Amino acid sequence: MRNDDRQVLEIQRGASKDEIRSAYRKAALSSHPDKVPEDERPTAEIKFKAVQEAYEILYDDQKRHIYDTHGMSAFNGSGDPGMGGGMPGDVDLDDLLAQMFGGMGGMGGGMPGMGGMPGMGGMPGGGQPRRSRNEQQDYEVSLEMLYKGKTVKFASTKNVICSLCKGKGGKEKAKAKECSTCEGQGIREVIMQQGGFLTKSAQPCTTCNGQGRFFSPKDKCKKCKGKKTTEEKKILEMYIPPGSREGDKIVLEGEADQVPDQEPGDIIFRLVQEEHEVFDRAGSDLRASFDVTVAEALTGFSRVVIKHLDGRGIELTHPAGKVLSPLQVLKIPGEGMPIKRSDSKGDLYLVVNVTFPEENWKPTPEMLEKIKQVLPGPEAPITAETVDEVEFDPKGNMEEFGAQDAQGGSAWVDDDEEEPAQCAAQ
Ligand SMILES: [Zn+2]
Ligand SMILES: [Zn+2]
Repeated sequence: MRNDDRQVLEIQRGASKDEIRSAYRKAALSSHPDKVPEDERPTAEIKFKAVQEAYEILYDDQKRHIYDTHGMSAFNGSGDPGMGGGMPGDVDLDDLLAQMFGGMGGMGGGMPGMGGMPGMGGMPGGGQPRRSRNEQQDYEVSLEMLYKGKTVKFASTKNVICSLCKGKGGKEKAKAKECSTCEGQGIREVIMQQGGFLTKSAQPCTTCNGQGRFFSPKDKCKKCKGKKTTEEKKILEMYIPPGSREGDKIVLEGEADQVPDQEPGDIIFRLVQEEHEVFDRAGSDLRASFDVTVAEALTGFSRVVIKHLDGRGIELTHPAGKVLSPLQVLKIPGEGMPIKRSDSKGDLYLVVNVTFPEENWKPTPEMLEKIKQVLPGPEAPITAETVDEVEFDPKGNMEEFGAQDAQGGSAWVDDDEEEPAQCAAQ
């Protein structure tokens, strides 16, 4: 009566547990018998059970493994779980949902867009080979590497189909014997108590490792010892194109572990950009700050102000007589990050940081007089009716700004919480 459990749940092969849970939640809600008109209830109940069963299989690692290797027949073999087995009639569906969503923060949260992915190709309908699981991991890259692009080589150990027995697990002429423990099914049914009611649960047979049949010790392949796969070290290469960004995925197709009778999945690297000491990145633009002295800010300069991500010095000429102000921004077109699959680049924003003489600067009175004469004087004085001359701490720290109020602040919150009571009393 059902095609495939993934279709019942409308999810994609390789979906994460969160995605399965989220799809389950969506499907369970839409087929919840309480949510449909009276006459549709019997159908809804069947659908709900199917959804429930699909979820149990896909969410449970062991069952999912059985499903991925044996398909749905492994679960249908013992009868018709959609109708016969399954849940006793008096299960409170709300209880069931509460169990499922327990600790998930209620029904509201976490139903992101993944829900419906219907009609996608590759649903294992008939004779199509199943694919082994994709392997995804984060890969940290420096901003320099993302700027220049790079080919990374690394050694990877993976399971490959045994070259001697071609994944059979036994010697050339040997025949695998049917496992007597599970009668060749690869699974055993176990009655389990779960959340206050009994469920039938399919577990992989431990005698044959879920295979249904195995070779006697003398017939086992010498190379893989009957495991069908062997570990192999392989040098893999991945290319990070210039301009790649955090979150970009680099897919090494078919490089995941090999499993007999399955198409190998992919190794997927998700790029994570390391923090950079000098540059900030936003899309294809870069930002950095550079120091100029007060004298340079006033009199101009011509020098390298910063080293770019590819090691080039970036030289600026600021003409004499043009003042550079603190935090002024100099935009340099075309010196940002490369833009993938194009020859263009983003822009570089350089923020001016004017450095003043250190504390130990010891100018003579004559020098100070000269500076005073040369530089513009203050604005017109501020007039006020009363004037207080005050003392000050020359080493004030902005982290203390507002800090004294920290306790006072929380007192405010308390006051706020009491406010409704005050209102009621008024
Ligand atoms: Zn072998
Ligand atoms: Zn067995």
